[in-house]
Amino acid sequence: MKLTRRSFLKKSGLAAGALGLSLQTFDFEEWSAQAQEAEVEKLPTQCNTCGTQCGAWAYVKNGRVWKVEGHEEHARSLGKLCARSHGGLGWVYDADRVQQPLKRVGEKEFEPISWEQALTEIADKLDDILTEYGPGYVAYGHYPRSTGTFYSERLMHALGVSTLCTHATSCNAARNTGFLYSMGGVPDADLSNTEYALIIGRNHGGGIRTDQMKKMSEALSGDAKIVCVDPRQNNIARIADDWVPIKPGTDLAMVLAISNVIIEEGLYDEEYVEEHAVGFDQFAERVERVTPDWAEQVTDVPAEKIKEMALELGENRPRSLVHPSWGGAFGAKYANSEETARAVACVNALLGNINEEGGLIFHPTPELGSLNEDQYPAPEEPDTRRADGVGVMDEYPLAGDFGLPHYLMEKAQEGELKSMFIRHHNPVRNFPDYEHMAEGFRNLDLSVVFEINMTETAMLADYVLPECSFMEREEVIEASGGPYASISMRTQVIPKVYEETKSFDEIIVELAEKLGVGEYFNFTLDEVNRARLEPYDITLEEFKEKGSMLIDMEAPLGDKDLNTRSGDFEFYSEVYDHVGRPGVVGWQPPAIGVDLEEDEFRFATGKEGFHSHTATANIESLAQITKDYDTNRLWINSSVAEERGIEDGDKVKVKSPVSTEEVRVKVTELIHPGTVFMPSGYGNKTPFYETAEEIATLNPNDIVPYQTSDIAGHSMRQETTVKIEKV
Ligand code: SF4
Repeated sequence: MKLTRRSFLKKSGLAAGALGLSLQTFDFEEWSAQAQEAEVEKLPTQCNTCGTQCGAWAYVKNGRVWKVEGHEEHARSLGKLCARSHGGLGWVYDADRVQQPLKRVGEKEFEPISWEQALTEIADKLDDILTEYGPGYVAYGHYPRSTGTFYSERLMHALGVSTLCTHATSCNAARNTGFLYSMGGVPDADLSNTEYALIIGRNHGGGIRTDQMKKMSEALSGDAKIVCVDPRQNNIARIADDWVPIKPGTDLAMVLAISNVIIEEGLYDEEYVEEHAVGFDQFAERVERVTPDWAEQVTDVPAEKIKEMALELGENRPRSLVHPSWGGAFGAKYANSEETARAVACVNALLGNINEEGGLIFHPTPELGSLNEDQYPAPEEPDTRRADGVGVMDEYPLAGDFGLPHYLMEKAQEGELKSMFIRHHNPVRNFPDYEHMAEGFRNLDLSVVFEINMTETAMLADYVLPECSFMEREEVIEASGGPYASISMRTQVIPKVYEETKSFDEIIVELAEKLGVGEYFNFTLDEVNRARLEPYDITLEEFKEKGSMLIDMEAPLGDKDLNTRSGDFEFYSEVYDHVGRPGVVGWQPPAIGVDLEEDEFRFATGKEGFHSHTATANIESLAQITKDYDTNRLWINSSVAEERGIEDGDKVKVKSPVSTEEVRVKVTELIHPGTVFMPSGYGNKTPFYETAEEIATLNPNDIVPYQTSDIAGHSMRQETTVKIEKV
């Protein structure tokens, strides 16, 4: 029987009374008159509708947020917010928010309990697990931001737990790893000053970060030439100078061929590669045979176009760049994504554009102070073996401390992980293979989710602890670097909407007390923030009024020292070699191969600018955009559709090796013929999301199998082929 939200409420005993709701009558006219006269307060805060956490101003009237605007002194918002920020207020006032601690009493059945009971039971169970198995059997996962990182790390380290994860292996882990082992980190693209930018798979108009959109707008409205390589014409490709469709998963071949041309034509920065790089000769030898003609066969990008891009990059250097991207084509998509990222880094090194205007710049991040160690000693970082194989030679030696939540679920199924804590993160829905993730969660002896909504992950937890929303809590001050830099904090702009909710720092402090490690939390949030502000001439009280301030940071133009093992750019990586991976990047096909069967398609996915994956599908105003523009459809090429008798709006079956799903199609000529594309924001499986259910359809993670790349350990979110059949 299908479980609806109402039957869930009934079964769980979560009737309105239990949820803390009360039905009151009031005099509307009197209320209305008072409401109109009430003062509007403008209070600083931060948006939380995606992980960017743009600085914002909340306009509050009668204790309710009426609108939000961008904070002009925040490095990410620069005075602007995206459409999702306004939608995010829907979360704050959602009547279906988790309003009291919940304890699982059956499959999809919960009962509300007190905080005292919840924290006591969690502490007792965790204590038993730590005693019986040790801290290597416990993990914590979150979307990493200041408060979560500060408090969770301290608690987990106090307990000896070293496995802390983020969402990165479903997002940009491969990109980060490839750049780390070649140029020591991921720099910013200086789009405002570039003359030529090649952007591979990054859709600034879909995966929006407001400051990057501003930079992109500057580039698009100036003289720079912007070329977008993407299997489909994404939002930026639509307004760029050139759109180059490519066979998904083969970008590496194109990038290596671009290197080949730049080297063959003598367009590279000889001085840079001689004085500031290691392994250039090996790299040049490796790409010698990777010609544009060969790459055309692999990628479907004409050899002439590859040559043209290479020549334009070389001729405009150092004010030219290949964008470091984000999730896009090589964030966490294919078995060769890390190598694609390394190859992209190599082209930029050939252009000699690192820390040059119009190239890639490693902007510094503003300094923050920290608590006095003598007064507030932090627990030592444990050296327990990580449960997710990060840094372990025969598992994932090159994966970063972003961790591998999907691999942890394999460990849970094997009994090698017993407990997981999750905050502000929905790994069960947002990693490939829902059943793999869900089965892992079911196998845990103790799973705890800190949330405001009943997400898919919360629905599988043993305990759900209700946080107050981002408008109702104060947070730890954070620093943002980049072309603009700022320090900022979220302040509480409205009283709690639901009395029984708590902020994360409150919950952790109380839990630490129950676990007997309360001595590591002998401070207040204000004391943490006062310490963070020490480098600046401003009091905490003054800062709470401002919320955010821009910090002048000098760009390190001309600085050629990199944060790599050698201190130089590494065309050859000794670390890769040491762990048995190729020391110099070369061609590696995606796991699904280059040539597919005639009836097979490659599968691509990506964000839309009005959804943060599935997290926002339940927000009415954002779901309405989906409905108005009919966007929750599978893109298929028009000539391919015509051959198969498929018309726009038809329903098709999408068959992958792991699942068959149905979805309506968008027939368009703006996609590579061998590819289908599905936006990532649909297909929630929680009975609490009634609005999301109205737009629910195929979710990419339902058709992609559980897989883990052997370098960064990312989840290879596009490594599947699909067959399409008209229903
Ligand atoms: S990019 Fe948009 S949704 Fe994300 S924090 Fe900024 S305004 Fe909010």
